[in-house]
Amino acid sequence: GEDHRLLRIASAIRVIPDFPKPGIMFQDITTLLLDPKAFRDTIDMFVERYRDKEITVVAGIEARGFIFGPPIALAIGAKFVPMRKPKKLPGEVISEEYSLEYGTDRMEMHVGAVQPGDRVLVIDDLIATGGTLSAAIRLLERVGAEVVECACVIELPELKGRERLGERPLFVLVKAA
Ligand code: AMP
Repeated sequence: GEDHRLLRIASAIRVIPDFPKPGIMFQDITTLLLDPKAFRDTIDMFVERYRDKEITVVAGIEARGFIFGPPIALAIGAKFVPMRKPKKLPGEVISEEYSLEYGTDRMEMHVGAVQPGDRVLVIDDLIATGGTLSAAIRLLERVGAEVVECACVIELPELKGRERLGERPLFVLVKAA
């Protein structure tokens, strides 16, 4: 059942304290990828939720959204669009700045990859403050797309990132402390 799958997924995620700096509890999904059953269950649970929602684009956020996004996109028959760090995409891009704990970063997307009227599912491994996902939403809405939902494997609910997404729904499999 559902709970059995969620337990297996949660158990396959490794937590590494003080990475990349003191005080951060890093949620490491590479151990989930080492468990083919848990990885399969993760993808299946997203596919079951999105297969009948007329999603036309799965937008994956660099880097770990590039691991979970493509198998979901293939299974539901949607395009996959990478949302990348600055200066990685070779074509014309549009970009959005967002704030980090120290300084700012920028997210880029190819012009023309997403069209007005596209129905987009945004995928990342984890939501913390929600800054990354809200930058992705701004980019997608600027080009006239509809963000149907954001989905992550893991949420850190204490950081209240969900509140930064406004009205757009967020779906997560695992909540971590
Ligand atoms: P945020 O923009 O604060 O929601 O941060 C989310 C982004 O940072 C995602 O792309 C995550 O991969 C990464 N991230 C933030 N906190 C963690 C954490 N504790 N463990 C693993 N990844 C994290």
